[in-house]
Amino acid sequence: MHVSAATPYTAVSSVPVLLRVRPTDMPHSPTELMDGFGRVHSDLRVSVTDRCNLRCAYCMPEEGMDHQPRAELLTFDEIVRVAEVAHSLGISSVRITGGEPLVRRDLPTLIRRLASVGFDDLALTTNGMRLVRCAEDLVDAGLMRCNVSCDSLDPGLFSSIRRGGDLSVVLAAMDAAESSGLPPVKVNVVLIRGVNDHEVEEFAAFGRRTGRTVRLIEFMPLDADGQWKRSAVVPSEEITSRINALWALQPVDPPDMRDPAPATLFRFVDGGGEIGVVATVTQPFCATCDRLRLAADGSVQNCLFSNDGFSVRDVIRSGGTDEAIAAVFRRAVTAKRAGLVPTT
Ligand code: SAM
Ligand code: SF4
Repeated sequence: MHVSAATPYTAVSSVPVLLRVRPTDMPHSPTELMDGFGRVHSDLRVSVTDRCNLRCAYCMPEEGMDHQPRAELLTFDEIVRVAEVAHSLGISSVRITGGEPLVRRDLPTLIRRLASVGFDDLALTTNGMRLVRCAEDLVDAGLMRCNVSCDSLDPGLFSSIRRGGDLSVVLAAMDAAESSGLPPVKVNVVLIRGVNDHEVEEFAAFGRRTGRTVRLIEFMPLDADGQWKRSAVVPSEEITSRINALWALQPVDPPDMRDPAPATLFRFVDGGGEIGVVATVTQPFCATCDRLRLAADGSVQNCLFSNDGFSVRDVIRSGGTDEAIAAVFRRAVTAKRAGLVPTT
C-alpha cells in the first residue's frame, strides 16, 4: 500500500485518555514499546514484498509500478532476527502482508521460522490467488489465521476491481484454508461508493451463510493513483444501519481490550455470527492503535498514513547488534504522533 501523495493529512493532537488501551499493569505485558500517549505496541505487520500479482484499482496503478530491487528487501534471516527482537520488546502478534505475501517464494519456510519465535498470534492477509496450492503447507508451518480479500461477489465486478483477480479462485482459497485446519477466514471487503457499495447486504448474507466474519473496510487514501476522495468512502455507520435493517445487530461488548483490532465487531442477534466494519476514515482508531509495520525493505513504520520510516536493514547490514535493532523500534515508537487523519 502507498500513502497517496495527493491527500493532505491533519495531525491529531491528543489521545483521549479513556480510549487508551492495553493497561500497563496487564500481566506479562512488557511496556518497552509504549509511546508518549500511553499506547503499548504489541502488533507487528510484516510486509514480505512490495510486489503483487494483482493491480487492485484502489491500491496499485495498472501499469508503471516501480518495485524495490530484490537486494533491498529483507532476507528471511533478517526478518526472523528482527521478529525475535520485536518479540523480546513485547510484540505478541504478527501478521504477514505485502504487496501480496504469497508471491514471495517459500513463504511457508518463513512462517515456520516465525512460528518458532513464540508469538501468540501469527496471521496472514492475502488476495487468495495463490492460496489453494500452499494452504496446507502454511498451516503445517504454524500459520494460525488468515484474512482473504474479496471486494465483490459478482465475478465481473470482482475482476474489474481486483484487476487480474478471479472470484472463483478466491472463494476456493477460502475453502482450502479452512479445510487445511485454519479457523473460518476473515473476509476483507473494501467498499467504494458507486462501485461495490450495493453489495453490503449481500456480503452480510455471505458471512451468515459461511460462518466467516466479513470486514467491510472504508476506502482509505492509500491508492498509488491518488484517486481517493472522501465522497467515495462509505461510512461505517451507513453500513451497519443498512445491515441492521435486515438482521438486528448488537455491538460485541465489551470489546476485547487485549485485541484492539481496527474492526468494530457486531453480532447478529439471531445467532447468525459476527460482522465487522473498519472505520479508519470516519472514526480513526488512532487512540487505540497498537501497531507497527515492518516494510519489505526493513523500514519500521509507526503509522499507516505516515511515510516516516526507521530502517532496521541499515542497522543489520552495518553489523548492528540486537540492541541496536531494538533501538530502532524504540525510536519509531517514540516518534509516533497521536494520529493522522485524511482531511480532503
Ligand atoms: N495483497 C494482500 C491482499 O490484498 O489481501 C495483502 C496486502 S493488502 C495491501 C491488505 C489489505 O489492505 C487488503 O484487504 C486490501 O483490500 C486493503 N487495502 C488496500 N488498499 C486499500 C485502500 N486504499 N483502502 C482500504 N483498504 C485497502
Ligand atoms: Fe494491493 Fe493486495 Fe490488491 Fe495487491 S492484492 S493490489 S497488494 S490490495
